[in-house]
Amino acid sequence: MSEQASCGVAAAQSAFERNAKRVIACRRCPELREYIAAVAREKRRAYRDQTYWGKPVPALGDPLARLLIVGLAPGAHGSNRTGRMFTGDQSGRWLFRALHRAGFANRETWERPDDGLQLIDCAITAALHCAPPGNKPTPAQLVSCAAHFQADFDLFEPHLRALVSLGAIGHRAAVRMLESRGWRFEERPEFAHGAEHLAQREGRTLHVLCTYHPSQQNTSTKVLTEPMFDAVWSRARAILHGDAR
Ligand code: SF4
Repeated sequence: MSEQASCGVAAAQSAFERNAKRVIACRRCPELREYIAAVAREKRRAYRDQTYWGKPVPALGDPLARLLIVGLAPGAHGSNRTGRMFTGDQSGRWLFRALHRAGFANRETWERPDDGLQLIDCAITAALHCAPPGNKPTPAQLVSCAAHFQADFDLFEPHLRALVSLGAIGHRAAVRMLESRGWRFEERPEFAHGAEHLAQREGRTLHVLCTYHPSQQNTSTKVLTEPMFDAVWSRARAILHGDAR
């Protein structure tokens, strides 16, 4: 790697870490901070011997990623426990298995903070960084957290080729963010599983892909199956390879 390229990597990494520190220290939604701290104190029986993270969960992944995944929010006993976005629960297991199959993660499971899990050319953020009760954020909480999403988006935007929305709430947050940054869609970018929308700005094209959220509710009822999910990540892989027809 050239000296110039390694400076770029170091600058992106330090911007990524600055964003993470701001997220972790954030107290804009006191009711959510109280809720996630209470979940961390009370714990689920299966995890009673573990120390929960119990704080806002920052984005995870490669600061120079060309693929950005936008989820809803941390799970109360998933990433609110582990401190790593989209790990520690059934949704995360589904996501990481699929990312591993598509070559976007070096492992298919999360086990411990020192397990060496790495995302490859991809990063994960969320519309909300604190786990909300019942997985249902309020509109006001989403507005409050948009500043963190914006900071992450601004970091990734220069090299971004594709964005995958996990579920309708993440998709709406992503579309609002893109439009606020001057990206324009030719048609209304409605959410539907497998939909692909093109956002354009200053001669650049960003592919916005949609998938149902891999929540247990969707996967156990087969609303979302592994082949359906894999097709989205294969498409993202093809876009990054330059096969964007
Ligand atoms: S949800 Fe977002 S804005 Fe609200 S406290 Fe958590 S990190 Fe801060």
